[in-house]
Amino acid sequence: MSRHKHFTEDDEPEIEGPKGQVAPQPWMTSESTQAVLRALASSGSEARFVGGCVRDAVLKRAVKDIDIATPLEPVEVMRLLEAAGIRVIPTGLAHGTVTAVIGKEHFEITTLRHDVESFGRHARVAFTDDWEADAMRRDFTINALSMSADGMIHDPVNGLADLGRGLVRFVGDPQSRIKEDVLRLLRFFRFHAYYGHPPAHVPSLAACRALAHLLPNLSGERIRGEMLRLFMAPDPAGALSLMQGEKVLPHILPEARHFGRLRQLAWLEDRGFHLPGFKPDPTRRLAILVEADAKGAESIAARFKFSNQEAERLVRMRTASTALPTPALSSKERRRLLYRLGADCFVDRALIAWAGLRDVDPRSDAAASEPWMQMLQEAMLWQPVECPIKGRDALALGIPQGRRVGEVVEAVRSWWEEGDYRAGREEALAELARLAAMKTH
Ligand code: ATP
Ligand code: MG
Repeated sequence: MSRHKHFTEDDEPEIEGPKGQVAPQPWMTSESTQAVLRALASSGSEARFVGGCVRDAVLKRAVKDIDIATPLEPVEVMRLLEAAGIRVIPTGLAHGTVTAVIGKEHFEITTLRHDVESFGRHARVAFTDDWEADAMRRDFTINALSMSADGMIHDPVNGLADLGRGLVRFVGDPQSRIKEDVLRLLRFFRFHAYYGHPPAHVPSLAACRALAHLLPNLSGERIRGEMLRLFMAPDPAGALSLMQGEKVLPHILPEARHFGRLRQLAWLEDRGFHLPGFKPDPTRRLAILVEADAKGAESIAARFKFSNQEAERLVRMRTASTALPTPALSSKERRRLLYRLGADCFVDRALIAWAGLRDVDPRSDAAASEPWMQMLQEAMLWQPVECPIKGRDALALGIPQGRRVGEVVEAVRSWWEEGDYRAGREEALAELARLAAMKTH
């Protein structure tokens, strides 16, 4: 029943004390984590795990980064860590964050804060020793948990209950929290995609809809960061459709159109097949969602501040001039595409073709998948080949520098492609000599 309840403003969380206990997990008890906690506790004040690692520990999901909070001010944090022989990097001293480094492990240690004034990224914060105030400045109730070294959970805003029922909601009034930092609007959809069960929290959703026009104020880098993480969620098409339905998505990605194809692609990448070395990929997911030609893809890449390399990849995925690799092509045609596109682009485009097909013919079964899998495997094992002759070989034969060099070399390349890339250098040189001789008569 509660799944279908619509939550309203009246459900504002009440402040409560600690609840719940997490059994020790390896990342909590590891030598390095313990060393950091011991160093911070040496002054007598408590350090706790905060944010994502607590949320994921409760759900028994893999913990990625370890964030720790402390009432100690950053200079004191640095002094204690250094005294314990731990390397410290003052990553964001002004915001109260330093990073402790032990071997390959990084621990972000942040002084408890409460927001004084907020202007997006440049929120003015003040340090505090009040754990509850620190929880109140966090974005969502499920992100506001903290955990003592022994696994005791502190949950002032009812995050545990929300985590249990899959309800992502802002701490405090959603509209004010979004106005303070518009990025939270996108984070809402991202966390809903990873932790939420439908239906989404209605007041939070309404606030996102009402304030979506503020999204273009965010920098391209911040939008890209959030969106690419959203694309990697278990059902990105569901989350993005929700954003579309709430009229949020058009403010940042008006090109979004093919939600069904994206659903198929995400399924294929995550569960549809297993090939060694294959990785699901957010840019590929973005590429299949949008309706855009090469020019359109360039414009998306520019808005999302993609690197040149990523931009080029997006454009190549959206360029219609080359055929899409499908098992219907002959093996020779496929090899030619592989040569022209390179293995990575071939795989990208083949997956886009396959997902597109599954979108119109969802009945495609295991037998239908087999040839696609084989083609992908072939592509992933493919070693790039290089045409065995170059322009200098033509010059060496006495062809004068100029247009003819290019023409003859191109003719040999076509011959080499026609022969399925099997000819070696000797044969290619012979063909070059033959063509060169022919051309002079
Ligand atoms: P993950 O790293 O798995 O994406 P996370 O919860 O650790 O999730 P981070 O972006 O690393 O997310 O942030 C750490 C914590 O800092 C969050 O859990 C949240 O409490 C707080 N936080 C991060 N960004 C914001 C924000 N824009 N507004 C308010 N609180 C934030
Ligand atoms: Mg994190």
